[in-house]
Amino acid sequence: MYSELKNQLVKYSHRSYDKEFVSMTSGNISVRTPDDKGILIKASGVCLGDASEQDYILVDWYGNYAGKKKPSIEINFHLGIYKVRPEINSVIHLHPPHCIALSIASDKFPLVTLTAKKTIGKIPMVPVLEPGSGELAQHVIESFAQNQDSTAVVLKEHGIVTIGQDLTKAFYIAELLEHEAKICLLLKHLK
Ligand SMILES: [Zn+2]
Repeated sequence: MYSELKNQLVKYSHRSYDKEFVSMTSGNISVRTPDDKGILIKASGVCLGDASEQDYILVDWYGNYAGKKKPSIEINFHLGIYKVRPEINSVIHLHPPHCIALSIASDKFPLVTLTAKKTIGKIPMVPVLEPGSGELAQHVIESFAQNQDSTAVVLKEHGIVTIGQDLTKAFYIAELLEHEAKICLLLKHLK
């Protein structure tokens, strides 16, 4: 079931790993199912670079799932974001190194290119909180709820969460954010 969506999840999982947006088993990707039963999300403990279709599990809106595999530890913010942003169908959480470096150096994520300013909008920054915690999930969900134009949130010392109408759009935002972070860091060398 959902084979086309799972195929897309595998494609963007591998792409995220190949572009070094994650290491080891970090990062998680999900999509809303077309029948709105819940979401398909990566199982916990699976490397995005090695993920295959059976590593994506169906979780309903109450957090229930079948089978032995557990959903990613960040399941709570994934489920919550879809509820406060009904127009989106995909959530991507990654650890891109340049974005993380900027989140440590500054409390504000600067957008320097015209493309990013037009495409990404405001980027709320979530304080340092334990990965997988209820507190982190609450901050991420509130950030997307209170900033309905935002397509990205930065987690200080941790990573990014991007959203989109589909997987491709959510991934492009993540890619653009990391590209922007690289330019910001290059600019620091020129100044
Ligand atoms: Zn993480």
